[in-house]
Amino acid sequence: MKMSNSINQEIGTRRDEKYRHIYVVIEHFEGQVVPVSLEMLGEARRLMDDFNQKYQLREKVVAVLLGSDVRKLCDELVTYGADAVIYANHDELKYPRNDIDTRVIVQIAMDAKITKEIEPEYAGTFVKPRYMFFAADNIGRHLSSTVLADLESGLASDINKLVISDLDIRHEHKTKGQTVRYEKILEMYRPDFSGFLWTTILCLDNKNPEIQREYHPQGCSIIPGAFKPIDKDDSRDGTVVEYSPKIDQEPKIKIIKRSVIEKTIDYETCKIVVSMGRGIKDNPEQNIKLIEEFAELLGAEIGITLPLSKKPYQVSQSMDSKYMSPDRVIGTSGSKISPTLYVAIGLSGAVQHIAGMKESEIVISINIDENSPIVDESDIFIKGRMEDVIPKLVEKIKDQMQAISVRST
Ligand SMILES: Cc1cc2nc3c(=O)[nH]c(=O)nc-3n(C[C@H](O)[C@H](O)[C@H](O)COP(=O)(O)OP(=O)(O)OC[C@H]3O[C@@H](n4cnc5c(N)ncnc54)[C@H](O)[C@@H]3O)c2cc1C
Repeated sequence: MKMSNSINQEIGTRRDEKYRHIYVVIEHFEGQVVPVSLEMLGEARRLMDDFNQKYQLREKVVAVLLGSDVRKLCDELVTYGADAVIYANHDELKYPRNDIDTRVIVQIAMDAKITKEIEPEYAGTFVKPRYMFFAADNIGRHLSSTVLADLESGLASDINKLVISDLDIRHEHKTKGQTVRYEKILEMYRPDFSGFLWTTILCLDNKNPEIQREYHPQGCSIIPGAFKPIDKDDSRDGTVVEYSPKIDQEPKIKIIKRSVIEKTIDYETCKIVVSMGRGIKDNPEQNIKLIEEFAELLGAEIGITLPLSKKPYQVSQSMDSKYMSPDRVIGTSGSKISPTLYVAIGLSGAVQHIAGMKESEIVISINIDENSPIVDESDIFIKGRMEDVIPKLVEKIKDQMQAISVRST
């Protein structure tokens, strides 16, 4: 079967009408909206303002909020950029549980009636959201995958840049080899290979008549810290709509008792953090000992990159249990810290790691590669092997400490 571009254009425009708005799935903890949710709203606001101007539309940023007493959080979401908030209050939604949260979010996303209160003009043809954002944290990564699977669309995970544009695409299967214009496509960028490469992920309809199929919403999970919230504006207006979730099935997981696990390492009060990465690989045991001595002298806590928590190297039992633990990971999968001094040793500075330490006041890095992304985050970069650099630093610090103690006696 032959396709012409004008036919596609027409189909594209008609199909577009079924998909409206950016839905942002909000997370909260202990009565507070978590920062990444406000960051996502900020980016959604910026994208939607440009989108509406470019396409002359009135689509909205819609925050989706689940919980057992969450009405009180809705106004704040409006002040941070939401045009509308759809919230669902239910005892079963008090704490995040993937199975039940998935069902309720899917119900909300498929509910055309509720969109009448958000933008009546678009409600008649509404089928699903156009775009959907989740946080790339432990809750959001899982939730985004199950929601998008149930909505029968695609998902890009761990995104830190977003652009909406019209693209000419030629693809063997999706367009049957012809160049076809896709409108309002969300280009989702994710850092790969420790941030050295970017991958652009597109969620495209199949426009090949033989395998025609639509994929909406275009969904993604967003790395915490990747975007900035907009400035809070108390004068912003928004629509707040209550949704009554249909919870007819028993949730698969019941919460019998809940206790929040205290972190064993208190990075919040640490003034100095020394972190290590895979650069320890040439002599892991010996290098950890070097870093340990260096950190002790500085009175610093030790952090690690995510790969080290997966125990890639053979080290003694004591080193392994003390340092190679998920509790010590700095970044989106671990702790977000803001010490006075951060020393990054043998780590490349992947975007997921940077998100956890970029609030540090002063950053010193030690690395053999001056092209590592960590260099851009550093106030001082020391090019060299940690095996050579750390002993020299230790020696200098010891000399200085001795000089200070001699002077003070
Ligand atoms: C969903 C997801 C979430 C993630 N979350 C996190 C997270 O929270 N935190 C995190 O850290 N990562 C996270 N990652 C992993 C991240 O993308 C990187 O892969 C990881 O941070 C790289 O770890 P690294 O810097 O230790 O290793 P590498 O990228 O391999 O870097 C090692 C560095 O050591 C240097 N080096 C080598 N030898 C020496 C030497 N002798 N002396 C000095 N320098 C040397 C090299 O030049 C290099 O820069 C995540 C990834 C994904 C996909």
